[in-house]
Amino acid sequence: MEEVARVVPAPADMGTAVIGVPEGDDLTLGLRLESVMEGVLVSGVVRGTAVGECVRCLDPVSQQVTVRVQELFAYPERAQAAEESGDEDAEDEPVLVDDQADIEPAVRDSLVTALPFQPLCRPDCPGLCSVCGARLADDPDHHHDLVDPRWSALQTMLEDSSVSDETKES
Ligand SMILES: [Zn+2]
Ligand SMILES: [Zn+2]
Repeated sequence: MEEVARVVPAPADMGTAVIGVPEGDDLTLGLRLESVMEGVLVSGVVRGTAVGECVRCLDPVSQQVTVRVQELFAYPERAQAAEESGDEDAEDEPVLVDDQADIEPAVRDSLVTALPFQPLCRPDCPGLCSVCGARLADDPDHHHDLVDPRWSALQTMLEDSSVSDETKES
């Protein structure tokens, strides 16, 4: 058994279209490599900082992600033997290549799953005004008066009328 603590530059595509760990940024690995009968079991924790944009207001979002990874890498002889014996699952199982375990796919899978599907700068982000695009968080009372002259004529009529809201709805 061996323990590995290492900081590595993130490979490309560590995330989704909206949020992810930028290529070259630090990924901190804390891994344990265990020799088991079939091969080497790699397990541990990977940490990085994902950056993206709030889907509502487009402000930058940055959040730390910590994911667990666990993957068994078979010895090449074992994998080959399993394949030859007709074990169909063996084909998809990761294999040690020149005594190296490529954990990148496992890290990517865990990381992408852990990232928010729709990142938000804060849970109650009010987003942008649908009319002018202003940030509603800066101006919660923000609203637009109807400026179209045809509508303003109608508005005057409504304001002048003594009809209450209740009767208007029915
Ligand atoms: Zn936001
Ligand atoms: Zn507006």
